[in-house]
Amino acid sequence: MPALKLTSYGAAGEVTGSCHLLQIGDFKLLIDCGFFQGSPENYQKNGEKFGFNPAQLNAVILTHAHLDHCGRLPLLYARGYTGSVYTTEATSQLSQVVLDDNFFIMKERAQKYKLPVIYTLSDLKKLYSHWQAIDYYQNQKLNNNINFTLHDAGHILGSAIIEVKAAGKTIIFSGDLGAKNMPLVKDVDYLSEADYVICEATYGNRRHEGAPQRNEKLLSVVKKTVLKNSTLLISVFAVERTQDVLQVLNDYYETHLDWRVPVYLDSPMAVSATRIYNHHRELLNYSAQQDLARDNDIFNFPHLKITNQLEQSQAINSAPTPKIILAGSGMAEGGRILHHLARYAPDSRNNILFMGYQVAGTLGHHLTHGAFDFHYFDNIIPVKANVEQIDAFSAHADQNDLLEWLRHFKKPRLVLLGHGDKNILPIFKDKISRELKFDCQILTSGSALDLI
Ligand SMILES: [Zn+2]
Repeated sequence: MPALKLTSYGAAGEVTGSCHLLQIGDFKLLIDCGFFQGSPENYQKNGEKFGFNPAQLNAVILTHAHLDHCGRLPLLYARGYTGSVYTTEATSQLSQVVLDDNFFIMKERAQKYKLPVIYTLSDLKKLYSHWQAIDYYQNQKLNNNINFTLHDAGHILGSAIIEVKAAGKTIIFSGDLGAKNMPLVKDVDYLSEADYVICEATYGNRRHEGAPQRNEKLLSVVKKTVLKNSTLLISVFAVERTQDVLQVLNDYYETHLDWRVPVYLDSPMAVSATRIYNHHRELLNYSAQQDLARDNDIFNFPHLKITNQLEQSQAINSAPTPKIILAGSGMAEGGRILHHLARYAPDSRNNILFMGYQVAGTLGHHLTHGAFDFHYFDNIIPVKANVEQIDAFSAHADQNDLLEWLRHFKKPRLVLLGHGDKNILPIFKDKISRELKFDCQILTSGSALDLI
């Protein structure tokens, strides 16, 4: 039997930069190759040498389209990789939206922080011509002894758990796992057979509110905004969160026909991603499919205004209140949300909502942790608006969901935890040891582990 070895080069002791190398004898299989995000030092890491030679990789599999999982894939091609990237069709399409946007932001950031632009448009195009679309549950051979299957991770459209069978062992990569009862995607698939499980732990220490409380919290901020005749600014991730929020608002507007508050979707990237959601309706959950049978466009309603052009985005400033603005990026690291924050944060009547996990070092993290002000170009902007966060709109499983997913395995040899903050990982590891009695380890970046 060939020897199995796992080395993580990202999302080990941190939440970004997912990148795991599985060696099966001479065969080198890479799972994800994501961007490091957060602080300027983290961005700096993106251009550094890989801990492996991309030219020697035999195959790459991508779990899902979030930037911290797909962001460095073009760099593999820039540095010599010539093979395929296996993933679901929806993931390949959403990844292109995410990577195109990131290429633009990367160039902006390169000027601001004097960072190099780490890959070119031609590297991006090389990646786009090497997607290998795989359906869920399709068994895919990589050679006579290695094959894999993708299962639904219930995280964002097209997201996958990867089950690799090689050298007589089953190795499961969770990718990012979804929370239960999300507005659009299906619930996560449960698996039972595994020797090794590489599991995410983003919310390994916390529980989310339930779906009714989540929707009610959003709508209560909407109502508060209307009472104060002010502005609600929602910082959304273009993929999944935007579509989730639109669907909740769509439901509300359809049942409250006298409600006329305009909603501005001020994110061209979110508009592109929404089109892909519409294209892959078969991947949505039962209730979303039923809504679609009734209302052909669950992401659109009479008072929704899409502002693709920059002038339209700027014109929102002078639109009368009350109004709701959805803009990205989701952690306020760039994009149109910044000029809206500069405009609306200083007014105490306004509300600002963040809808998911905020990586340390991002503006979203500062603001959700009580920052009094922030820098915007050469100005210091005071924060007087009410800032709130709704974790339950995060596409991530919470501690209960993660434990439930792991509990379905018949005692794996080892659970390996990654994709979590370094102070959260030990908490979740203890929880697994106590409640599930599974052997569990925290991944360390760069150190090879023999899977025997
Ligand atoms: Zn993700």
